Amino acid sequence: MKELILEMEDYAQEKNVPIIEKKSIAFIMKYIKEHNIKNVLEIGSAIGYSAILMASAKEDTLVTTIERDETRYMECLKNVKRCGMDKKINVVFQDALDVNLREEVKYDLIFIDAAKGQYTKFFEKYKYFLKPEGAIITDNLKFHGYVGKSSKIESKNLKSLVEKIENYIDFLKNNEEFNTEFYDIGDGLSVSTWKNAK
Ligand code: SAH
Ligand code: MG
Repeated sequence: MKELILEMEDYAQEKNVPIIEKKSIAFIMKYIKEHNIKNVLEIGSAIGYSAILMASAKEDTLVTTIERDETRYMECLKNVKRCGMDKKINVVFQDALDVNLREEVKYDLIFIDAAKGQYTKFFEKYKYFLKPEGAIITDNLKFHGYVGKSSKIESKNLKSLVEKIENYIDFLKNNEEFNTEFYDIGDGLSVSTWKNAK
């Protein structure tokens, strides 16, 4: 398994796949253990790197992960198989904004790590699938250090993307339903939990 993880890191580097930073996934794995997380929903599988590590954090942790890019989805399936995780990880090939999850299944942890410009949409859609004591963790809130500096960015596309992440951070800070802690780990992480644990 360790070797497969290293192989995935090399593959990601070679093919420019933006997998999570080591410190960030270590934080999430610790969170999974400490909070006895059994059911994880991940938005944005890429090649399965974070899904496999989350599923390996605890013996009884299951992961459902959604990916819209076919090449990455196929690579993810392959990696899940090779790690012997097919019983623990369910990979869904679809745009996360189009997925219709079974309403009765609720998650202890939702990990948002797909298109950075759509974070608010993912959050608003998937909060209904979070358990009362659950958490939503979001990755890449620093976006390589650009976040907070959007006014100085010249490239239009990059500026617009960074502004969307800045808006998402404001959305979290001003949210009436959720409390959010921000962590300066890796590319920036947040942990959001319900204000009134229902
Ligand atoms: N979580 C992975 C990295 C994910 S990279 C890891 O750390 O190992 C982000 C992925 O989200 C990309 O593969 C991209 O194709 C996918 N993605 C982006 N927008 C999406 C959407 N709306 N629905 C599903 N997948 C999406
Ligand atoms: Mg990420």
